[in-house]
Amino acid sequence: MIARLCIENAPADRLFDYAVPAALEGRVTIGSRVKVPFQRRAATGFVVELPETSPFAGKLRPIASVDDPSPMILPPLVALARWMSGYYLAPLGKCLETLLPAPVRTGNTREKTLLYVEQTGREDQPLTPRQRELLENIARVGGGWLGQICKEFSCSPETLKKLAALGAVTIEERQARRDPLRRGRILPTQPLALNQEQAAALASIVAALCAATGRAAPLESGGASAPASSAPASGGASAPSLRVSESGGASAPGLRVSESGGASAPSLRNAGAPRPLLLFGVTGSGKTEVYLQAIAAALERGLGAIVLVPEISLTPQTVQRFASRFGDRIAVLHSALSNGERYDEWQRIRKGEARVVVGPRSAIFAPIEHLGLIVVDEEHEPSYKQEESPRYNARDLAVMRAHIEGCAIVLGSATPALESWNNARSGKYTLLHLPRRAGEGVEMPFVHIIDMAQENAREGRANVFSKELITAIGERLERSEQVILFLNRRGYSTSLTCPSCGYVETCPRCDIPYTYHRADSCLRCHICGGWTRIPEKCPGCGAPEFRYSGVGTQRVEQIVRRCFPSAKVARMDADSTSRKESHDDILDAFKAGRTDILVGTQMIAKGLHFPRVTLVGIVNADSSLNIPDFRAGERTFQLLAQVSGRTGRGAIPGEVFVQTFSPEHPAVKMARTENYEGFVDIELPQRLALGYPPFTHLTCVTVAGPDERLTGVLAGRLRAALCAASDRAAPPASGGASAPGLRATERGGARAPSVRVSEVCPAALAKADGIYRFQIVLRATSAMRTNAIVKAALAAVPVEAPFRVTVDVDAFSF
Ligand code: ADP
Ligand code: ZN
Repeated sequence: MIARLCIENAPADRLFDYAVPAALEGRVTIGSRVKVPFQRRAATGFVVELPETSPFAGKLRPIASVDDPSPMILPPLVALARWMSGYYLAPLGKCLETLLPAPVRTGNTREKTLLYVEQTGREDQPLTPRQRELLENIARVGGGWLGQICKEFSCSPETLKKLAALGAVTIEERQARRDPLRRGRILPTQPLALNQEQAAALASIVAALCAATGRAAPLESGGASAPASSAPASGGASAPSLRVSESGGASAPGLRVSESGGASAPSLRNAGAPRPLLLFGVTGSGKTEVYLQAIAAALERGLGAIVLVPEISLTPQTVQRFASRFGDRIAVLHSALSNGERYDEWQRIRKGEARVVVGPRSAIFAPIEHLGLIVVDEEHEPSYKQEESPRYNARDLAVMRAHIEGCAIVLGSATPALESWNNARSGKYTLLHLPRRAGEGVEMPFVHIIDMAQENAREGRANVFSKELITAIGERLERSEQVILFLNRRGYSTSLTCPSCGYVETCPRCDIPYTYHRADSCLRCHICGGWTRIPEKCPGCGAPEFRYSGVGTQRVEQIVRRCFPSAKVARMDADSTSRKESHDDILDAFKAGRTDILVGTQMIAKGLHFPRVTLVGIVNADSSLNIPDFRAGERTFQLLAQVSGRTGRGAIPGEVFVQTFSPEHPAVKMARTENYEGFVDIELPQRLALGYPPFTHLTCVTVAGPDERLTGVLAGRLRAALCAASDRAAPPASGGASAPGLRATERGGARAPSVRVSEVCPAALAKADGIYRFQIVLRATSAMRTNAIVKAALAAVPVEAPFRVTVDVDAFSF
């Protein structure tokens, strides 16, 4: 028997074959962690394949030992890690590491044991009245942890030890669970009677679940990858990829991964996987109730479930909703857990004690066996994207894991990502629609759009607040209702706008605002790398000045305090929450009505229910519209829809005021009525015309180094190699393989390049901690095609320390 391993601290992206000694057969499976001799040291490795043969057969060294009684990593997760490694161009070892939470991986955290006291029902010698009373108390509660018993019945550990000596109780070490939910206070809830649309959505999810229950399609493994032996070897094993038919077969998930990363990549196909479901439901339409009942259906069939939620909405309320329905069967995994809690929760999942996992992006790696359902709530959220290697998007990994496992997957959102929407349009996903709010008599709020250009012209100066908004705030305060004033993240803005009319200088080729680079005081396009000078005066209105758009939360707080001196105002942003008051304190005070006006950033935009909030003001919608990102419109629409979803949750109807210089922008106009379809009908054709996702994949390659000139030179050489590789891979001019909307604007040439390569451009964070960064943006209809070119270029232009290259596939920021 042969095992193919990924070895820790060995050359990345190479696998090594070992012999499995007869004594260890049966204990070595895919996902096992093993010890092996490697070069002249002992090393740890994970088994990723059990090949029939090895090119090094006869010369293989044996595995020394197996680490854990059962494999650390489940086979479907090994497959997921291999796909992740190939798609996101991250070393397989790093991807495997990502599957395990640190306290589990390092082995530094152990199970916690505490002393447990239990009555024996006998006593060897007569007890004092005091001892008897204590024993009766212990019997009444049926035993407990020593510490708790001492506290509850006011006794000392010595008293208990005496009782043990008398034979009346036993005191023994038991595993104590570190429970992040502190269960016990959670009241159970019953399923609600669903409305018609909810019932239809649930039926579709249950149908997919049933397909998963009856799943028989095992993973089909294609050609084997070229391994290396434990001796230095000739061929490196290249990253695997999933081969998924692009032709729109019923089972094809939406990820475009048809091209394999290399000739030797194994392919996986799972024809039995149900089609992903996109649950498109307006805010408050009862999506969560549908998830809850779908999870119950999975549990009834003996299947487990994973629910991904954005970190920011993983509030106690959210967790409570799941815990109330499923009690002990829930495990929670998130970054705020202590190492001990994380270790225990993971072990409960691994042992099958918890069958439902709720958590942020890393919960997609939860070791649930017989997985039936994955839910990705708020699937459009950028926080699903991990911004360090491996730079995965958990939503996309969820689709891939469901495909590998053959299980049901639901992507839920009031404002789906355009990628997901497009997949629903093309039939790769099935669309489920909840068009109205679920609660009785709960109405969508009324949204006022305030044109700040008109306001400024009328007032003769650039104000932060319009008269209308100030008046409306005053009215709420008189009626003792509450107000939320919302701003985009502080310091978010990197583009310059005219404070009088809102004009923004935009790259004519890419239709995104230029990013202002202070160092050489010029405007650069972060998609194509083009640049221009800052205009002398505003081309829109002739005003002499350009500024960063938007004001900070602190400034807004000041103005509000000045306008409403008797109102109680609180501010919540990254600064305020790191200070004395925590996030929770601020929200508790607001909820209890001790605060009248809450000023804040994204942090307050979602996941919260405040029945007394009847007014939400969006101080400057443009600071989100003008970010130099082709998704700015999409993000603004999402933000406005979500923020307005915060009001009118109670009996009092809510109102939203949006201040903007772009009242006619589709993202603003359509968000007024939460008309998502109206928005995408305008947005999608523009994305197609400009060659943006979802019609292409953008990859951002960053070159970093300590010397500006040398780093720039290296970036230039890498770009030349990328262009050369792209030209070699280009189809003949007549081949017509270029995607609709892909115009070869970035580089000339008779043949359409298979991958478009931008100019080298200083990164948004051009210099930090003495490190200079340059970026190159690659664009193609297939991310795997881009990957092949990146690999070829990196092979041609070796990068050595202190220089570094990072590759961000399906990047979210440029
Ligand atoms: P979403 O997740 O789509 O934002 P929620 O699941 O939070 O929506 O539901 C919004 C509100 O409507 C919640 O208070 C929920 O209890 C209530 N709700 C959901 N479904 C129903 C239903 N079928 N009947 C009555 N109320 C419902
Ligand atoms: Zn451009």
